[in-house]
Amino acid sequence: MTTVHTHDDLIARATDADAASALQGTRDLFSLPEGVIYLDGNSLGALPSAVPAVVDDVMHRQWGERLIRSWNEADWWGAQTRVGDRVGRLVGAAPGQVVVTDSTSVNLFKAVIGAGRLRPGRTVVLTDPDSFPTDLYMTESAAALAGLEVRRVHPRDAVAAIAEVGDALVLASYSSVDYRTGELWDLREITDAAHAVGGLACWDLCHSAGVIEVDLDAGGADLAVGCGYKYLNGGPGAPAFLYVATRHQDDFDQPLTGWQGHAHPFEMRPDYEPAPGITRARVGTPPLLSVLALEAALTAYDGLSPADVRAASVSVTGTFIEALDALGVDLPLATPRDPERRGSQVSLRHPQAFAVVQALIARGVIGDFREPDIIRLGFAPLYVTHVDAVRAAVHVAEVIEGREFERPEFAERGAVT
Ligand SMILES: *Cc1c(COP(=O)(O)O)cnc(C)c1O
Repeated sequence: MTTVHTHDDLIARATDADAASALQGTRDLFSLPEGVIYLDGNSLGALPSAVPAVVDDVMHRQWGERLIRSWNEADWWGAQTRVGDRVGRLVGAAPGQVVVTDSTSVNLFKAVIGAGRLRPGRTVVLTDPDSFPTDLYMTESAAALAGLEVRRVHPRDAVAAIAEVGDALVLASYSSVDYRTGELWDLREITDAAHAVGGLACWDLCHSAGVIEVDLDAGGADLAVGCGYKYLNGGPGAPAFLYVATRHQDDFDQPLTGWQGHAHPFEMRPDYEPAPGITRARVGTPPLLSVLALEAALTAYDGLSPADVRAASVSVTGTFIEALDALGVDLPLATPRDPERRGSQVSLRHPQAFAVVQALIARGVIGDFREPDIIRLGFAPLYVTHVDAVRAAVHVAEVIEGREFERPEFAERGAVT
């Protein structure tokens, strides 16, 4: 089935596509181990080569030598909004609307309660029943505290549900890309529907930031949250981000009123007064080693437009799907074939998906498993090339054809899948 002719042909075409890509050469900005095709950048991004030297400087010079003076000298104080603006560029947000802070979970909590306070008297929050679990847990908890009701409605039915909820709608809160299937939803359509009934829209960009042209400002988004350690490559535990559109900032009354969101933090006043602008979305002292690692990581995106990155992503995932087809792999795709509806991942279904992923990892193709039957492969276009995509497809074909996943060692599960 997998003839030499097919292989050579696929590799030749992939080599041409790499040479023609606007992202040609960006892989050299990352430190990846030899022999690994890394398809898990949607869970933990790879290490950009610029990061270690910056972290070393932050530790030894900024912290070790300059000590507390670095809050001013190295502008540690302004890092969260400075790095926020860098993230903003990648998600279509003009400066002054994004802050790098906390985790996605915490930011979503702030956003849901903040939305309720922006729309007093309204009671309903809509969200996706298939959301990443923390989004459901935090939305339910925030809504309970704010006296709101959460209705779980799939994004494909969101527009109709929003119309039905009408002037009771506080917030439509959705992920722009489904973390399991990789399906991409229309931010503008759901946002417009929410606005038509006077409600707000919040977008979770965990699987979009750094790979999709998100266009928060142009799409009219009100709020958004997202991860720093996935496609943005900020490293394990990197802080997340929160976007609040400029028009809402004066009234954005978020519940976690920490001193770093205060208008006059060093006056040490007994009562809270929110800072102007996006700064009020800050809470406490941030993990600066991680904030500054994320800042260095984002330099990998210098000179790249979100449109170029998206085009490369569509092309690489498309190459992978075509290669699977050409190699006769007939596993059902959980991800839409239509590039307009596809994020930057390709998910395949297999009854023994966990073992298939383990067999791929043993071959150096690192992806992950998601319940119940999903082989999830993320394609970070800055460091996954078209040639990588073809090679990965060949490995998948060999694991499936050779029934390699049936080996007993591939059935064992660690604490993190
Ligand atoms: C990865 C991810 C998270 C992670 O949340 P943390 O609080 O940063 O651990 C949340 N939501 C979605 C949709 C994700 O994909």
